[in-house]
Amino acid sequence: MSTLPIVGHLIGGKSVTTPSRSQEVFNPATGKAEKQVLLASKATVEEAIANAQAAFPAWRNTPPLKRARVMGNFKVLLEKHADEICQMITAEHGKVLSDALGELQRGIENVEYASYAPELLKGEHSKNVGPAIDSWSEFQALGVTAGITPFNFPAMVPLWMWPMAVACGNCFILKPSERDPTSTLRIAELALEAGLPPGVLNVVNGDKEAVDTLLTDPRVKAVSFVGSTPIAEYIYSEGCKHGKRVQALGGAKNHAVVMPDADVPNAVNALMGAAFGSCGERCMAIPLVVAVGDSTAEAVIAGLKAEMAKMTVGSGFDAKSDMGPLVTKPHFEKVKGYVDQGVAEGATLLVDGRGVKVAGHEDGYFLGPCLFDNVKPGMKIYQEEIFGPVLGVVRVKTLQEAMDLIDAHEYGNGTCIFTRDGEAARYFTDNILVGMVGVNVPLPVPVAYHSFGGWKRSLFGDLHAYGPDAVRFYTKRKTITQRWPSAGVREGTVFSFPSSK
Ligand code: NAD
Repeated sequence: MSTLPIVGHLIGGKSVTTPSRSQEVFNPATGKAEKQVLLASKATVEEAIANAQAAFPAWRNTPPLKRARVMGNFKVLLEKHADEICQMITAEHGKVLSDALGELQRGIENVEYASYAPELLKGEHSKNVGPAIDSWSEFQALGVTAGITPFNFPAMVPLWMWPMAVACGNCFILKPSERDPTSTLRIAELALEAGLPPGVLNVVNGDKEAVDTLLTDPRVKAVSFVGSTPIAEYIYSEGCKHGKRVQALGGAKNHAVVMPDADVPNAVNALMGAAFGSCGERCMAIPLVVAVGDSTAEAVIAGLKAEMAKMTVGSGFDAKSDMGPLVTKPHFEKVKGYVDQGVAEGATLLVDGRGVKVAGHEDGYFLGPCLFDNVKPGMKIYQEEIFGPVLGVVRVKTLQEAMDLIDAHEYGNGTCIFTRDGEAARYFTDNILVGMVGVNVPLPVPVAYHSFGGWKRSLFGDLHAYGPDAVRFYTKRKTITQRWPSAGVREGTVFSFPSSK
């Protein structure tokens, strides 16, 4: 019997720790199991759905301004508890504390945007669409909605979802990643403290059993998912099959194009953060540099090697660390395997991070930054998402060749171009088949009042995450047409289709 602290569920405003299957949660910097997360059974998820369903009528009819005020209180609590939350993120994910703070801040910006819900839900009104007839469209809550989130942003990605869903009048079931569940649960507790009524937000920890229950239960009306592409595709097809509205954001392989006229030192600095920040475990990370021209490639590689030599790999709690460990042992093995594979495939390994050891953390999942040159489109390290600190340089001769490569790739999440040429930048942003594009901006992650989403196999569904698209995703349009003829006015019978002719 494990004596580790238990991470349970939050259902109907109460902590639930009904015994069930469970899984250890590791500290990736030490390799030690520190918690035991419960994996919800079908019955536990159904209990959460029932609580959400029961809370819905009153919450739906709560004035939007009152719902928004809860978001305002919640934002203040998140800021007050930021240190505590970031410690939890670093202890389970491994990212350095400053990076944890960055993700939390981005999450808080989504809470801030959700607090504008009364404005965003105002609807559309037209007077006199016909004689004494007025018409308006309003955006009504769906009911019980659900979100399934990945390990790499345990605070931010859930905050992309449920604050806007509940601000729009829905109730929500969140199924966080079982690999780093603690901060997500703590944040949900703060939402209750901020005034969210019990049952409006429920958190169930779990795995496939919990997810499948959410996907098949007819009481769940919409599902948001963020994670890897194979699971995103499964969630989309299963959810749609069961009549739900689904948005499923998947994986990525983002290319950064460096043009011959780019400001190379600035591009190198930008690439360093985008490739190695959060140990490369970001869906908007840059794992591929496409250098236009050999002299561009040489200059970029020289700059990267110099900067990589200065990097400090260590515990995320150590203020000197630039990069922490990978999230789990299996993920560490997988990423290291890709480096072995790149060598076997014939790419040139210029910087090898496989031997890195961190004193005092010998059992941690640390991999140093790696750099490959001569990466070719046929290679696995080019095609597949590695999700680790492995950067590959692809050499091409023209911008068009770079763009053809990007367009041919199965993923289309993010991309960027480094150039001083406005015409090239405009051609790139106008034509590239990718959902989020940067010009001299390595991580073009939209701010909270725009929406986030990739193209091709990086997103299944029509609406993007957060921002204005989230208001549409979490509401149903209803259009009402009403006539109030003046007293005594008689309307004749009309058999033709009503029109304004
Ligand atoms: P993952 O797909 O393994 O897990 C995501 C969620 O799905 C978790 O909650 C997990 O419990 C659940 N899940 C896993 N296997 C399942 C199964 N067989 N059936 C049902 N549910 C299942 O992803 P991850 O490793 O936690 O996260 C990393 C991935 O997420 C990367 O591919 C990354 O690119 C992607 N990601 C994408 C975005 C985006 O916005 N496009 C953002 C962040 C992360």
